[in-house]
Amino acid sequence: MEQFLLDNAARHQLLISRLKPPKKTKVTYEASNITVAARVRPMLEHETSSGQVVAVYPRVDDSGVVDLHDLRRVSSTYTPGRVFGPNDPTESIYESTVYPLIPWAWEGNVGTFFAYGQTGSGKTFSIGGIERLVAEALFDGTLPGERTIHAAFFELAGNSAFDLLSSRASFPILEDNLGRTQLVGIREHNVRNKEDLLAFTEEANKLRQTAPTTKNDGSSRSHGICRIRIEDPSSETAGDGVLYLIDLAGSEAARDLASHSSERMKETREINISLSVLKDCIRGIADADSTKSSKKPYIPFRQSMLTKVLKHVFDPLESRKCKTTVLACINPSLLDTGASKNTLRYAEMLCGPKSALSR
Ligand code: ADP
Ligand code: MG
Repeated sequence: MEQFLLDNAARHQLLISRLKPPKKTKVTYEASNITVAARVRPMLEHETSSGQVVAVYPRVDDSGVVDLHDLRRVSSTYTPGRVFGPNDPTESIYESTVYPLIPWAWEGNVGTFFAYGQTGSGKTFSIGGIERLVAEALFDGTLPGERTIHAAFFELAGNSAFDLLSSRASFPILEDNLGRTQLVGIREHNVRNKEDLLAFTEEANKLRQTAPTTKNDGSSRSHGICRIRIEDPSSETAGDGVLYLIDLAGSEAARDLASHSSERMKETREINISLSVLKDCIRGIADADSTKSSKKPYIPFRQSMLTKVLKHVFDPLESRKCKTTVLACINPSLLDTGASKNTLRYAEMLCGPKSALSR
């Protein structure tokens, strides 16, 4: 087994030396409010001991390149944004892709973090670590001024929404007469300290993880949303800051349509659509951002429940200033190469053809 893994690594080195370097694109971090990154998690103990081998290799030279080798020794190369490998701790990802959202939301703006990827790729693991670091940052006293903090956790499955801090009570999502999306009756909780936030996180996660070891558990079929609202009591005019941490439904739902029952196929199609609409909406705001055109761009946020809930992130008629990060999570196993390719392509598409986004 060990020999096989070594062979695999040696083969990778050889393949790298034969690959043409990707074209360097000029990227400017400040130009865009969208950050795209990929995290390739380590192989887990049970995966290596059952004979699975690695197929996805982030290059260690900080070039933002990921190589993927599948069984027929066909190699492909991806540039999904900033790249984090199996040895990178959640702290590094947090520092470069999440921390900038915190002072931003504290000042009354909207910061959104999405974890994207197939089931088992490390979305919940990454969000869990990030929630702990966010809880520390909000309450370590380094941010200026006083704020009141409120948290809500909910889940979107198709057109239904469930309150994860209220025994999974279902609630309607409606648009009010000012065109704002309202989560009707959701319970928002006052957060006094770090421990409060972590306790809410834990409570919500327990309700999500119905059967975490199977690929068909509830949490992989729904989007889990943590909404932290940051209110400035000294200002009546400023809008509240909002920080969203979003654990997206498993992206493998975009495939395997034939093997499911009709209800499952409908669910799968809905997840497929919501992830694709999300991509179009993020591309839409990135393009609007980079061209700085005075014309309002068309952003299809009405086409899915997820983007309707995030209307103030995506509707060009709302004047909220937004920063958005997408972390594309990847299971490096050869068994998951189909899903990994899709995830890497999704991240590349978010970066856009000219890649005006940060790396
Ligand atoms: P997802 O939410 O995408 O379905 P999980 O976050 O549940 O995936 O991760 C699948 C498994 O991999 C879990 O057992 C998790 O603890 C483990 N895991 C994920 N990312 C890492 C990592 N960076 N380091 C160590 N273990 C990880
Ligand atoms: Mg999960």
